Amino acid sequence: MPGLDPYRDLRDGVRKLCARFPDSYWRELDEQGAYPEAFVRAMTDAGYLAALIPPEYGGAGLGVAEASVILEEVHRSGGNAAACHAQMYVMGALLRHGTPEQKQRYLPRIARGELRLQAFAVTEPEAGSDTPSIRTTAVRRGDRYVISGQKVWTSRVEQSDLMLLLARTTPPEQVRRRGEGLSLFLVDLRANLGKTLHVRPIRTMINHPTAEVFLEDLEVPLEDRIGEEGQGFRCILDGMNVERILIAAECIGDGDYFLDRATAYARERRVFGRPIGQNQGIQFPLAQAYARVRAADLMRFRAAELYDAGLPCGPEANMAKLLAAEASWEAANAALQTFGGYGFAREYPIERKFRETRLYQVAPVSTNLVLAYLAHQVLGLPRSY
Ligand SMILES: Cc1cc2nc3c(=O)[nH]c(=O)nc-3n(C[C@H](O)[C@H](O)[C@H](O)COP(=O)(O)OP(=O)(O)OC[C@H]3O[C@@H](n4cnc5c(N)ncnc54)[C@H](O)[C@@H]3O)c2cc1C
Repeated sequence: MPGLDPYRDLRDGVRKLCARFPDSYWRELDEQGAYPEAFVRAMTDAGYLAALIPPEYGGAGLGVAEASVILEEVHRSGGNAAACHAQMYVMGALLRHGTPEQKQRYLPRIARGELRLQAFAVTEPEAGSDTPSIRTTAVRRGDRYVISGQKVWTSRVEQSDLMLLLARTTPPEQVRRRGEGLSLFLVDLRANLGKTLHVRPIRTMINHPTAEVFLEDLEVPLEDRIGEEGQGFRCILDGMNVERILIAAECIGDGDYFLDRATAYARERRVFGRPIGQNQGIQFPLAQAYARVRAADLMRFRAAELYDAGLPCGPEANMAKLLAAEASWEAANAALQTFGGYGFAREYPIERKFRETRLYQVAPVSTNLVLAYLAHQVLGLPRSY
């Protein structure tokens, strides 16, 4: 019911922008393993990546619901917002936990796109999903911290000016609770790249810029620590709900992309003298996927509504991410089956997205960890780890 959609104007604006970047644009980048620089520039210039920055710092001051609609539309058009979506939400830690001076120093320039803060270095090779056991260490020396260690899967590090980094400032045996003793830092990549910070790109099954990061005595001034020392994990936790809602929206965009393309193909493609879409064997998987995408969509908006009202939304944000990632994958499979052999052909619109949408059951948080959160925190079952 388009008449009831409160986001119609916003959707139209994003769609218009995305129409300049058709399937062929993304396919060529995918083949070259190249960064979608022109697309990211267009998104920045249109102000979409500053959606969540308050107007006093030069942003659009929109809610998470609107931000999620922007990313959803990018994905529904066939694009992939992972090249730049973190520019929207990584700054949230600075906004919520930074000092007035830090916010004034960075946020207006991030809003204008002069500074890219879209790298977020949390995951480490040994810790994996168990973030509190990270080993990268920051030692206070006078007016600065000296940081050494290793990160992995640090996405967009080569396309960022600044990076948010989580490191241990107090040894685990000296803290009262797991998760304490970690601190958050804003790292100036330009000043340190190739000196105290080295990057080794990781090639993956999708066109996504991500890398290992090696830190050797990287110096960060005291004034670039975000939030209190030892409370860094808490500072990133409240931003994770935003990330989960936005990723859910990308999955919903993917789900609708698959359904748009597959239903169009099923109407056109004729075999045995009739459209393949006339067969229930083709219709039902698409209808089932459609129902699941719509259900996940409701949970996305419920989570966004709670977040934007300043209310707790952990369960809803996690369920939205879980359900949407599963729904987009179901739609991907139904679309691949509908396209038959052509589903595997590079010049057809399914196989790239098929690879891309699979990621969301693993990153930024794996499905098992979401289920464990729901089991422990919502259902009150004993912790499994
Ligand atoms: C393309 C890509 C981009 C990424 N970008 C970033 C980024 O920008 N910044 C960043 O910090 N990280 C990033 N990540 C890392 C991502 O968040 C992690 O891959 C993810 O959190 C899982 O960690 P892991 O890969 O070490 O898996 P592991 O923790 O080793 O887990 C492997 C499997 O075991 C399961 N498992 C582990 N423990 C349990 C348990 N207790 N119960 C049940 N199942 C369990 C997991 O669910 C998973 O399926 C990215 C990853 C990818 C692939």
